[in-house]
Order: sequence, then structure tokens, then C-alpha cells
Amino acid sequence: MFVENNRKEIDRIDDEILQLIIQRNLLSDDIIRCKLDNGLDVLDKEREYLLINSLIDKFKDKINQDEIKKVYSSILYYSKLKYYQEIEKTNQETIEKSKLPFIIAGPCSVESEEQIFSIAKDLSQLNIKYLRGGAFKPRTSPNDFQGLGSIGVQYLRDAAKYYNMNMVTEVMSSQQLLQHYNDIDIIQIGSKNMFSYQLLKDIAEINQKNKKPIILKRNFNATIKEFIYAAEYILKEGQEVLLCLRGIRTFEQIDSNLRFTPDLASIRELKNITKLKVIFDPSHSTGNADYVEDISKAALQLGADGLMIETHFNPQESIVDAKQTINYETLNHIITFLDEIKYAQ
Ligand code: PEP
Ligand code: MN
Repeated sequence: MFVENNRKEIDRIDDEILQLIIQRNLLSDDIIRCKLDNGLDVLDKEREYLLINSLIDKFKDKINQDEIKKVYSSILYYSKLKYYQEIEKTNQETIEKSKLPFIIAGPCSVESEEQIFSIAKDLSQLNIKYLRGGAFKPRTSPNDFQGLGSIGVQYLRDAAKYYNMNMVTEVMSSQQLLQHYNDIDIIQIGSKNMFSYQLLKDIAEINQKNKKPIILKRNFNATIKEFIYAAEYILKEGQEVLLCLRGIRTFEQIDSNLRFTPDLASIRELKNITKLKVIFDPSHSTGNADYVEDISKAALQLGADGLMIETHFNPQESIVDAKQTINYETLNHIITFLDEIKYAQ
């Protein structure tokens, strides 16, 4: 029968594809070893772009470009996985061990592989250890950019691994978390989902064995008690939850340049009534890059254990949340301030 014959042929081709990938990995292992022996950078993005683009040029009439990009970004990632795991082993830093307060920085959204690698490189040079970036974006309008999805998580993961950072990204469903569990270092639950109790339960269950840190963002309409109850859904499973304040809705922003009202006093309140780490998001809470530096400093003064700040090499160019995104210069001011607090301790 035609179907069976085709299936047989497909099985044979699949064997062949995997044999070829194995051969490819062996060759690439040799190159990695040689680069390491000679003190060279293992990752050569330029070579990877050339490789993928020349395949697209050659085959674009017969196979979808995105398919080529997806398949090859996986092949290239897995060919370097052993190397990534090696640096992770020698250099892993968890939130628990790292000195507080810490900064999570990165763009609102992962926009492309080039964008996130470039930002990761710059931030790691500023000694930032936590890289954020949204791939699944909870946008108010279904007509707006919804994020790159799975491929965006992969780009973020690759960039974070390469620059030895931990990555933070939001998931909006348990399927997304299951699909990307191994890619994600710190799981973010967004403000809009703080009240999605089934999602909180599902995430806690999926994360029960490995207990990766979870950042839970306060819903902009939530009381402090509701926020803590939401955290308790996850804490029931004995997991590490970081409470993230990100501004609430009041009358303030109706006719002002604020997107939300920074809930700064709640840092003190949450630290008084819980043992959890409390981090502050000056970007969403103000919606205005001009205020981010001052609000960050205020949050640190009030005892925040960390900040989550939207940062981009060219903020105005950001696809999402351009108005509240800061540049490296502003970020540097905040880092300097944070260092002063650390040294004064
Ligand atoms: C974010 O941090 O990417 C985000 C979407 O923020 P929030 O959930 O606080 O709106
Ligand atoms: Mn944002």
C-alpha cells in the first residue's frame, strides 16, 4: 500500500537524518575543543548566520525559510549543549546564594536572535546575572505583537547560556511551561495571570520536583492579601516564590504620564508580613523611562531584594513598551547606586 511504503521510506530517512546529525555533532565537538584549547570564543554568531542564510538561499524554493531557521537553531544549540552545561556547572549562581539586591534586566520582548544576543552581551559586561525577555506576551490587544513564542524562548535561553546568565521568562499556560521547562531558569507569572488559580496550581505541580524560582507579579487590581494568597498556591508545594510589585491601578494615571502607580510602600509591608523576597519592577509600575531611575533607587532604599528593569540598546526601537524602556546609561546609574548600598552594608 502507498501509505505503508511511504512510511517505510520516511523511517529510513529519519534514521539517516539522525546519523547525519550525530556525525555533524562529532565534527562540531572537535571544533569546540580546538577553540577552547586556543582560548577562542566557542560561539561564532557570524558563522551561524552565514550558514543558515546560505541554506535558505539554496533551498528557499523547496522548503519554508522558518522551517530551516527552526531546525538549524536547534541543531546548532544542541551541538554546543555539552559546552554550555560545563560552564553552568562551574559558574552557576542561584538567587539564594547571590548577594542581594540583584538586578534582572533585558527587553520587554525577545525581538530577534541578534537583539537578545546583543543585549545579553552588553548586560553581562555590566555584570548583570539575570536576563529577562518575553517570548509569550500577554498583550491587551490581540492585534498587537504577541511575542516570538517558542523560538523566542530558545533565543533567550541560548543568549543567557552563552553569557553565563540566568534567564527569566513569562509563561501563560502550563503547556508553554511543559514545553520549555528545561530552557527556563526562573519562571515568571505575569500580572494578568496572578488570579489564574488553576494556572498557579499547574505551574506549582510541574515545578514541584525541580523547584525553580518563580517570580509572581502582583495583579494591578490585587490587594496585598490577594497577592499573598496567590503566592500561597505555589508555596504549598514548598517552592521559592519571589513577589514582584509592578504598580497598581489608581486614579493617578488617568490624566498623568504614569501607566500605573508604583506600589513602593508595599515593599515594606510585604517584607514585614512575609519571609519572601520582594522585587520591584520600576518599568511597568511607571510606564515612563524618565522615572525608572528614581523609582528604582526608592525601591532599593525601601529594602527591595531586587529590581526587574526593561532595558534595550535602543529603547525607542523596542517593539513593546518602548516608552518605559531604559538605555544602558540609565541602567548604569542604577547599578552604581545599588553597589553603593551593598558596600555600605
Ligand atoms: C513583563 O514583565 O513582561 C510583563 C508583561 O509585566 P506585567 O505582567 O507586570 O504586566
Ligand atoms: Mn513590558
